[in-house]
Amino acid sequence: MGEQTLDWVRLQKALSVEAERGYADLVGNQFRFSEFLCLSLGKPPRNIAATDKMQWHDVAQKFANYGHLSSAQRKQLVISTRNFLQQQKAIAETPHTPPQPKTPRTATLSSPKAKTYFKQEISLDQPLSQVIEIGRRSNYLERLGLYTVRDLLFYYPRDHLDYARQVQITHLEAGETVTVIGTVKSCKCFSSPKNKQLTIFELILSDATGRLKLNRFLTGARFSNRGSQERYKSQYPVGSIVAASGLVKQNKYGITLDKPEIEVLDGAGASIESIKIGRLLPVYPLTEGVPADTVRNSVIAALPAAAQLSDPLPRELRNLYGLIKLKNAIACIHYPENNEELAHARRRLVFDEFFYLQLGFLQRRQQLKQNQSSASFTPQGKLIEKFNCILPFVLTNAQQRVIQEIFEDLANADTPMNRLVQGDVGSGKTIVAVYAILAAIQSGYQAALMAPTEVLAEQHYRKLVAWFNLLHLPVELLTGSTKTAKRREIHSQLQNGELPLLVGTHALIQEPVKFNQLGLAVIDEQHRFGVQQRARLLSKGKSPHVLTMTATPIPRTLALTLHGDLDVSQIDELPPGRQKIETMMKQGKDRKKIYDLIRREIAQGRQAYIIFPLVEESEKLDLKAATEEHQRLSEVIFPEFSIALLHGRMSSADKDAALTSFRDNKCQIIVSTTVIEVGVDVPNATVMVIEHAERFGLSQLHQLRGRVGRGESKSYCFLMSSTKNIEARQRLAVLEESQDGFFISEADMRFRGPGAVLGTRQSGLPDFALASLVEDQEVLNLAREAAEKIIAADQLLVNSPSLKQELEIRYRRLMGGDILN
Ligand code: ADP
Ligand code: MG
Repeated sequence: MGEQTLDWVRLQKALSVEAERGYADLVGNQFRFSEFLCLSLGKPPRNIAATDKMQWHDVAQKFANYGHLSSAQRKQLVISTRNFLQQQKAIAETPHTPPQPKTPRTATLSSPKAKTYFKQEISLDQPLSQVIEIGRRSNYLERLGLYTVRDLLFYYPRDHLDYARQVQITHLEAGETVTVIGTVKSCKCFSSPKNKQLTIFELILSDATGRLKLNRFLTGARFSNRGSQERYKSQYPVGSIVAASGLVKQNKYGITLDKPEIEVLDGAGASIESIKIGRLLPVYPLTEGVPADTVRNSVIAALPAAAQLSDPLPRELRNLYGLIKLKNAIACIHYPENNEELAHARRRLVFDEFFYLQLGFLQRRQQLKQNQSSASFTPQGKLIEKFNCILPFVLTNAQQRVIQEIFEDLANADTPMNRLVQGDVGSGKTIVAVYAILAAIQSGYQAALMAPTEVLAEQHYRKLVAWFNLLHLPVELLTGSTKTAKRREIHSQLQNGELPLLVGTHALIQEPVKFNQLGLAVIDEQHRFGVQQRARLLSKGKSPHVLTMTATPIPRTLALTLHGDLDVSQIDELPPGRQKIETMMKQGKDRKKIYDLIRREIAQGRQAYIIFPLVEESEKLDLKAATEEHQRLSEVIFPEFSIALLHGRMSSADKDAALTSFRDNKCQIIVSTTVIEVGVDVPNATVMVIEHAERFGLSQLHQLRGRVGRGESKSYCFLMSSTKNIEARQRLAVLEESQDGFFISEADMRFRGPGAVLGTRQSGLPDFALASLVEDQEVLNLAREAAEKIIAADQLLVNSPSLKQELEIRYRRLMGGDILN
């Protein structure tokens, strides 16, 4: 790129990524977003008039001040700058654009109603405001972040409504998507008596078989005056014939259509001619205030440009995986002729979403491996030898395998380990981490173990202290509640290298903690930490080896996608002797029996957990607060036992005391909120009662359940729930049936979506426009395979320039940030 040529596309991309990421002033490779804008705008193109150049400098100035603007002001500035650049680009390019030829336009869609327009050649990078049929409607599209024809074409519908089925009113059945043809019997439009902002539109239709009432709920002030309500109503005169399409639903007033599309037909015998009715109609993800039809109609206007899309995927690859061409996929994803076309289009575009992401991940991984070197740790040494001798059990095959995988990584000085260990609750991940830690220490390095909660950090610490004492190694705990004097001591011991292992919470990264030589960072329950937090821990050493652990195991390919540049190991075997935890859904009336069982277990020396979702936080929800229940249980139900209470609002010291007394069997029952969830390990506990179980996610319930069944004795888990909701009961039934963490997390993702289960925001996974991590695993596997093949043959994509280019656009767009510069 020559010095004075301005890269319009890159500027617009920077603006659009900034908008997508919520105006956070993203940090790119070289510059922050605002700096990049300020610099670029400071150098307007040569052929811009002097008066305009002043404006460029003005805008540049505004970006210099971007850091001080509120989010709303930033948004305003980004939007106006996008418009400004569009205009300026048009001006800068005017002399080169030949006058538009005016030839008749061929209708895009086979609709007899389509008017004949004069043909306008539209191109992919043309601003939407310059597409004749879109014109001023481009203002709406800008609110959706769509500026060019290309943007709009790649704005995929989130769904399609199948309006192809025409059904008579009496045959309507809830759950089907249909089209009904009928006569308007009455039509009303009025403000809701309860909510002034809400306007209700009500239409009654009839056909030979019955009557159907349809409603639309219109929000916003623009509908709330009489005049606009009359105008709205007048679109549907009594006696006219309309076609109404939508999903049939049954509510307490009877059968109706959910959010119906209603179109007035010309006359009684008229066929349905609209592009909307009687076909697969795209439904776009919308922003408030943007009419759905604006997007639909604009897409139709933009569609002819899809033919200009070249396909970066090599033909052999398309053939191999049965993928249709990009331009066909784009055309069909919006307006498919039938479901089959739609499925092909979707498959191709889902493939693309996964493929470029994988390609990017793989490339980055290779680069990381080439660019960094790190310490090499040997597994042969005194510490590990000794530890093998004191280990109170035999490692499972899975543990041995994963430890070997880790040792191989650690021995390699050319590249730091970056490995994720997945394992179900109780599969014994901690011990695996200990081996890695010992390898680091016996090679003269320090290690850090970070856990997401104090409870968990504390517990790791206790276990490690016991082992480390036998090995004559010091280990310390650093959390938010570590006393100042102790902290100072820890800091200095870390810095002079006396302390080989530090266990802790976020405190590890928040403090001015300095290691002498950090060689290994272990992160437990890694999905609880954000990308930034992980990065902060790593920055405490010189490219340390990293071991992360998660107890929400997911299918391997999914893990590879989610965790991108990590290697993944699985502990897919539980230590021997573990029994199935008897799991049952129960209601209030069963409580007495459960209490009896708890008494029997305690009589045999066992212990029990009773878990509540919340404490005093949601007065409105009728949750029994753990505190109240604790009182009731201690005073009324189990006066003979000692019962501890544990919740998030207690001081650390109190939490500690509660857990310790439970661990030492000084109290037989612990009543707790979900702070107990992660990793608490009291093998003597055999009963788990979870109140309001329907309020938890499956993975979380599985984790909670994993607190019992840790010893040799038979254990029980009671899922208390009085919900009548069928889906909620189906969800809980999954736990009754399965103890397999992989299976459960997958089921959980189906019910609640991967984001809710895995915390994708935190883990840095992009939001896919089309692809579903749960439903599209087959395509994901293919995409990964394809990406691996390509990277293996040609890591830098020198032989595939168009792939390379597309990758840069897509991958950076997905991952955000570093697209800027
Ligand atoms: P998680 O994978 O859930 O973090 P932990 O590492 O806490 O599991 O291990 C659960 C329990 O199983 C601990 O008490 C641990 O000492 C024990 N354990 C780990 N590995 C084995 C093994 N191979 N045989 C027997 N017990 C084991
Ligand atoms: Mg654990």
